[in-house]
Amino acid sequence: MPARPGAATLLLAGALALATGCGGAGSTPPGAAAPAVAPAAHPAAAQLPATASATGATGPVGPRPPRHHAARRPAPRPRIVADFIPLTPRRRAETHAYARRHYGLDLARLIGPHVIVEHYTDSDTYSSAHNTFLADVPDSELGELPGVCAQFIVDKTGTIYQQTPATFLCRHTVGLNWTAIGIEHVGTSDAEVLGDRRQLAASLRLTRWLQARYAIPTANVIGHNESLSSAYHCEHVAALRSQTHDDFNRGDMDIYRRHLGAGPVGSSRGPGAALHGPSCAGPMR
Ligand SMILES: [Zn+2]
Repeated sequence: MPARPGAATLLLAGALALATGCGGAGSTPPGAAAPAVAPAAHPAAAQLPATASATGATGPVGPRPPRHHAARRPAPRPRIVADFIPLTPRRRAETHAYARRHYGLDLARLIGPHVIVEHYTDSDTYSSAHNTFLADVPDSELGELPGVCAQFIVDKTGTIYQQTPATFLCRHTVGLNWTAIGIEHVGTSDAEVLGDRRQLAASLRLTRWLQARYAIPTANVIGHNESLSSAYHCEHVAALRSQTHDDFNRGDMDIYRRHLGAGPVGSSRGPGAALHGPSCAGPMR
């Protein structure tokens, strides 16, 4: 009898997702995921020529630019509360081992980063999500170390909490952790986050700032549910190549991306942000 997910399976998946601090677990058959972002080059070929930023011009001082020019300035840094989880030598070693296993990389930091992934916690409080990240224990879904984490959590109050340095490698999205910054939102559905004025405004401020800081185009701001169609998706463990979660699907991310706007001035990376050293290669999708 063909295996089809029944109610019990779905309930179990939901329970596992709750335990791992992210949207519901799901698996999309290869080929079923529609490309969620504009086709992009393989990361190794994705470096476009740097484009001078109009805002960096050093000409004579003139009149203030009109407002529509002001809107294209790099996004300001939002208020961020540091609430870091301890990056112990053990956790760093576990992160190195994870990067070797999944990406063929011996490191505990992001290369790039090229992607921002939006999530919701499937919980109602900041503290429950933070405590999940704090505990360096195998996650109940995949049973791996290090414990899961995301670099940022946006609370329902609109407070942004930072969990690790922005470029520490956190486990939040299978296939993309080597190059993606994760932003969790306290909540239990895409709609809940998108409908929360304070939380959404804070999320957009944070994402725009990270986009500007790392020259990440809006097309590479994706939802967890869009992970399989990212040009940067890369996973060496065959059993996980079609693994994703249900949080922030394409329809809801289209709404989020419309709120974001065009992203940083110029979508190309400057020389300082170029991809250095090795990148995840091999089983790219
Ligand atoms: Zn997620």
